[in-house]
Amino acid sequence: MSRPTAFRTKPVISKTRRTVLKAGGTLLLSVFAPSASHAAQILAVRVWPAEDYTRVTLENDTNLKTSHFIVKNPERLVVDIEGIDLNPTLKSLVAKIQSNDPYIRQVRVGQNRPNVVRLVFDLKEEIKPQVFMLKPIGEYQHRLIFDLYPVNPPDPITALIEKGQWLKELPAESKPQHSEPPIAKADPREPKLPQLTRMITIALDPGHGGEDPGAVGRGGSREKDVVLAIAKRLKARIEEQPNMRVMLTRDADYFVPLHVRVQKARKVQADLFVSIHADAWVEPTARGSSVFALSEKGASSTAARWLANKENAADLIGGVNIKGRDRQLAGVLLDLSTTAQINDSMKLAKAVLGEIGGINRLHKNGVEQAGFAVLKAPDIPSILVETAFISNPEEEAKLTDDNYQDQMADAMLKGIKKYFSQNPPLAKNRMT
Ligand SMILES: [Zn+2]
Repeated sequence: MSRPTAFRTKPVISKTRRTVLKAGGTLLLSVFAPSASHAAQILAVRVWPAEDYTRVTLENDTNLKTSHFIVKNPERLVVDIEGIDLNPTLKSLVAKIQSNDPYIRQVRVGQNRPNVVRLVFDLKEEIKPQVFMLKPIGEYQHRLIFDLYPVNPPDPITALIEKGQWLKELPAESKPQHSEPPIAKADPREPKLPQLTRMITIALDPGHGGEDPGAVGRGGSREKDVVLAIAKRLKARIEEQPNMRVMLTRDADYFVPLHVRVQKARKVQADLFVSIHADAWVEPTARGSSVFALSEKGASSTAARWLANKENAADLIGGVNIKGRDRQLAGVLLDLSTTAQINDSMKLAKAVLGEIGGINRLHKNGVEQAGFAVLKAPDIPSILVETAFISNPEEEAKLTDDNYQDQMADAMLKGIKKYFSQNPPLAKNRMT
């Protein structure tokens, strides 16, 4: 009962282009240069700018040898790639750098010496690069990845404070019934100052992004796009709640590794983590919404296990630097899942599933459980919502429909509020 990779494909056009290029390269080699060694072909270049980091992907037909170094005043990243010649695809990288890229001002591409192409990234600020190769997977061939991380990354709490979302002033009448005594008391000399109550922080996690499109429907809709749209609608609703604030693990089209999603939620001390996805199956008739929690003793069904394995493979498609030290540390942290977290997650999952049942058919009647990596924050109740089947043409149409996206966001908010009304958040040892 393997879930299909067919829905995980990129648009056919890129594959066609790739095949043509590859065929062209082979033809050239056999006709004009029978004795020369086969120069690697750059098949595609992609740029994913984001506040977190900007990624540049060079997809090629073979493993490439590279070296890189940083030059100061002004900041530049210089990369030498061996065994390739300049081609129009590689040259197209120059035009793909947007003026609003947070970290790259421009890129220059040139043949540095025979068989070596040099890329010079002119930078907007100090960055620490990660340069690594990914083996072929899914529809992708070899990928050479440049991840440009800022040396001084933006702090997520500072970002919330700047948006006025970290500390909200609550009018007295909107204080929730269950709230414990205010942590920050109004100054008695200033009786008009509103009192501050415990704020609830919700982490929303739109699945996939960037190199990882997630599932792709028959009509061409991509999971990464529809789940981001739904997450943004839910975010707007949460921001309207007087006692809630919200953080998105990604707010644009770029890849966020699974463990980083969990780290981000923990950094803002989230009270809840809600991962938003769209399901896919080889049969177009499969349909309905599902809500998942982590399991302690194996998956609740074979399908749930398959799904967790597939969602956990996002890091392979999206492209994680497996040699990164952070990742190993994260692995140790994230294996500390707790019974209490799972119990709370089940309560949250039931509340949300109940509300979604009012707007869409449910795939199964109950909450399912499996070992989703993204649900493993040991201290945050976490659920994963499969909003509908993008592989079902009728549900694909729903997922891209404004109305359905609104209804889904409404239902999820209702479920979250229901959970908190029955499980008031405990005081945390922190300011507000
Ligand atoms: Zn997904």
